[in-house]
Amino acid sequence: MRYAPPKGTYDILPSAPGRDAVQNSALWQWLEASFREICRQYGYAEIRTPIFESHDLIHRSVGEGTDIVAKETFDFVTKGNDALTLRPEGTAGVMRAYVSNRLYTERPVSKLYYIGPNFRYERPQKGRYRQHHQAGAELLGASGPEADAEVIALACGFYARLGLTDLKVKLNTVGTPESRVEYVKALRAWAEPLLPQMSGENNRRFAQNALRMLDSKEPQDIALLVTAPSLSDYLDEASQAHFTAVKSYLTTMGLPYDEDPRLVRGFDYYTHTVFEIQSGVLGDKALGGGGRYNGLIEAVGGPATPGIGFGLGLERVLLALEETGVAFPKTSGLAAFLCPLGEAARVACVSLLARLRSEGVACDMDYTGRRMKVMLEQADQNQARFAVILGDDELAQGVATVRDMLTKAQETVPLENLSKALV
Ligand code: AMP
Repeated sequence: MRYAPPKGTYDILPSAPGRDAVQNSALWQWLEASFREICRQYGYAEIRTPIFESHDLIHRSVGEGTDIVAKETFDFVTKGNDALTLRPEGTAGVMRAYVSNRLYTERPVSKLYYIGPNFRYERPQKGRYRQHHQAGAELLGASGPEADAEVIALACGFYARLGLTDLKVKLNTVGTPESRVEYVKALRAWAEPLLPQMSGENNRRFAQNALRMLDSKEPQDIALLVTAPSLSDYLDEASQAHFTAVKSYLTTMGLPYDEDPRLVRGFDYYTHTVFEIQSGVLGDKALGGGGRYNGLIEAVGGPATPGIGFGLGLERVLLALEETGVAFPKTSGLAAFLCPLGEAARVACVSLLARLRSEGVACDMDYTGRRMKVMLEQADQNQARFAVILGDDELAQGVATVRDMLTKAQETVPLENLSKALV
């Protein structure tokens, strides 16, 4: 019996020639380290929450009328009859943890980041998986527009650090829930006579979550939406002032953006600022997105606390880097690969390996007992800087032959000086 990875999933493996970037574990480590480093610079600390949460938390905070909850969650019931859901996004669990652990009592502003897998029952295709990974950040306890600008700057700074160019920040405001009620009424009144001309998907959205009609990708809907009422006409003054200030901070920071009055995003919890980051090379698949969610912490049982954050799809970053042709960093390999010739040398290499490792040298040795050529191939596969060759002659003289794997130059080095020669 042979098993394939479950549909929409893939394995992340050691680097090998020709391996796709998304399957290369060294690139994942690089991505994750880059995100951790920029978060540290911005004053964010890591939070790790379970990959499943209560069914109720996910369904209610993401929103029953959203595509994610309506069609994509992995829901299950445990043997103990608890209804759980694999997390489809990171924010709801972080908010739950913020409240469960009363983090709001520890400091007025919490800045949290996470990296981890999310699960959505989607139709798999390139850049769309049933298990994908996101790096996210949440800034809780600050309602001012400078918080919004910081969060957007953090996301853009991450991409810039990786060398990703040709990016667009799309920006909009969805105002307060109160102003949205009036707008949604107007939107439904406008849409109702047009329903026969709209896609089936937008007919569903009309019934379940009318605001999401704005986000349709269907040409027939896009043509009709040109005449739809505009959300910005329904915003109260405070929401407008907030949005103006966010834009002005972004300009001050030198971060270009495109205002997109139809950007509404796929979650119900957003208030005020919403944004999405797109890459020219990925078409309409977003790299990442986020927004403000001032009512969410209260909705999951905490004190009224403002919040803003984002989630960035990591597979899509790797795809975009690959498409753009950005050079990936060289993965660091071993300093040395030990190649014993014969039984006595093999025994000596085992203790030499232990000694070098205890001296902090990254090294490995041949365990196959095969020909020199095969041993040197293994040194190359492990990206070893040097091969250390030990035969009976070398052993008798207390030396090793050190071969530079790039230049192929060889020199004889006394065993006691070996760790110094391997840098
Ligand atoms: P969302 O949580 O829907 O705002 O998504 C945030 C980001 O996660 C998106 O912009 C994508 O980069 C990524 N993403 C979302 N769903 C998937 C998926 N099914 N497969 C791969 N990446 C995804």
